[in-house]
Amino acid sequence: MASHTPEHAAGNTSSKMDKLTALCRRRGFIFQSSEIYGGINGFWDYGPLGVELKRNLKDAWWQDIVRCAPPGPDGQPIDMVGLDCTIIMNRKVWEASGHASGFNDPMVDDRESKQRFRADQLFGLYAGPHTGNSAADRAAVLAAVAGGIAPIISIIASTGGEAAEVLERQGKKLFKERNVPLQISEIAAEFVLLKERGEPRLGVLAAVPIDVLRGRPLEIPSPFTQKTGVLTEPRQFNLMFQTHTGAVQDDSSMAYLRPETAQGIFANFRNVTDTSRVKIPFGIAQIGKAFRNEVTPRNFTFRSREFEQMEIEFFIHPEQAAEWYRFWRDVRFKWWQSIGLTSANLQLREHDRDELAHYAREGAGTSDIEYRFPFTAPGFGELEGVAHRTDFDLRQHAQFSGLGDKLKYFDQQRNERYFPHVIEPSAGADRGTLAILCEAYQDDPGRPSGVVMKFHPRMAPIKAAIFPLVDKDGMPEIAGNIYNDLRKTWNVEMDVKQNIGKRYARMDEAGTPYCFTVDTQTLSDQTLTVRHRDTLAQERINVAEIRNFLSKKLEP
Ligand code: ATP
Repeated sequence: MASHTPEHAAGNTSSKMDKLTALCRRRGFIFQSSEIYGGINGFWDYGPLGVELKRNLKDAWWQDIVRCAPPGPDGQPIDMVGLDCTIIMNRKVWEASGHASGFNDPMVDDRESKQRFRADQLFGLYAGPHTGNSAADRAAVLAAVAGGIAPIISIIASTGGEAAEVLERQGKKLFKERNVPLQISEIAAEFVLLKERGEPRLGVLAAVPIDVLRGRPLEIPSPFTQKTGVLTEPRQFNLMFQTHTGAVQDDSSMAYLRPETAQGIFANFRNVTDTSRVKIPFGIAQIGKAFRNEVTPRNFTFRSREFEQMEIEFFIHPEQAAEWYRFWRDVRFKWWQSIGLTSANLQLREHDRDELAHYAREGAGTSDIEYRFPFTAPGFGELEGVAHRTDFDLRQHAQFSGLGDKLKYFDQQRNERYFPHVIEPSAGADRGTLAILCEAYQDDPGRPSGVVMKFHPRMAPIKAAIFPLVDKDGMPEIAGNIYNDLRKTWNVEMDVKQNIGKRYARMDEAGTPYCFTVDTQTLSDQTLTVRHRDTLAQERINVAEIRNFLSKKLEP
């Protein structure tokens, strides 16, 4: 669901992001894809630490959702099964789902600056920091009206309302004369593009209906340069990547890379009900890659062209939609908290009705679980959407596949055949990983590393490090035995190089919650030190106790 959260934020918040990005590169969390060839826009690779982090996130999701789903609203266990579908599917799937025709954002290009804008979110225009009373403001409003556009006066949240009021008064007069409606809105996402270039506080945003724009883009100034006459006609821009199957590359062999994992679940609905014992209410879950040819990939991994989703389609009787919608919304929100997103940077936002996708408008609701990333602050960016998709998808597949009523579910308890409704919690594994990285990152000038990654122990890529204090006197052998034992269960690391301070610093950057050091005392009494990452406290425990110690600390 498109969120109206800005994805570009004021410059001062980006320094944390710069530092985090540098750390990710330096320590092997995330690399640019194909970096040795200059990279490729919108694609990212996970390095040795990143792959563990992301895997921990996906494993926790699979464990907590599929293998050990929480009890439902009535306290009864939930049926949940997993699935792993292909990325390339029959093209008809995407015709049925509406993606082949509907997953288009009409775009307008600025021929000079080569910037591309979503036509339906195009700015009327804007220039500089305004009072709302200047000739330029007036011209902005006039130009929007001349374009036959209903302008929205958009206010950056931090500004006092005075300038807006002046603009509104002026605007109302103009609009009254020309009978054009006027709306006042809160900050709009694309506005921030302009904010980056000069801190404007107030502007006229024209939400352009495509049919109005068609044929007259030359009258509308480029949001980027404010020049008129440089915008192209709106063009359809399908976000699905295309490829071909087989030897011949013609229209009949064209196939799409899936833009979401959900459709594989719907397409397999009957296979799953026929082959397992699931009964409504039940869920089917899938983790997998999805691809979208995003127009403007940006903000590190937040908006990528290849990413991973963790999706649940939860099938219910239509009458129970509201109850299950609330259930999943709340369960999913708490889950993100349980894996470490505990700060006020996590929020649950219920959508307004007019934001909803066509199929969801009649439904029980849609909400986003959002995180305040450094690049969205003070706004939020979507981590997961929880939506009541009604029976839209199953009905579409029933129609497009020709299966019709055969795709209905037979409810033995109710003795009723129907298309189940669906509650869909759809999360992004990459955005989740990024949120975890942002949440964990803490500058700490008191440490040699200057920074510590305070991951929740369950998410930490390395659970524990084992250090022999010196590389002699039998210490490496003891450390080696401990390491070989622990690695059967957890991702642990042994490090014998450099002085102990440097080794701790490396582990602080990797976010390793516990470091065990074998020292001279270990040789005589079989105890070693445990250093706690967050408090820097050290204690001694018996070597034989390490397994117990870690098990307790790493429990979900
Ligand atoms: P947005 O409005 O930010 O484009 P969306 O509403 O289109 O996202 P959904 O279709 O609801 O996203 O997809 C579910 C989840 O998949 C999102 O909550 C997000 O975590 C993830 N996701 C979607 N698009 C991307 C992307 N381009 N890069 C990384 N993750 C993505």
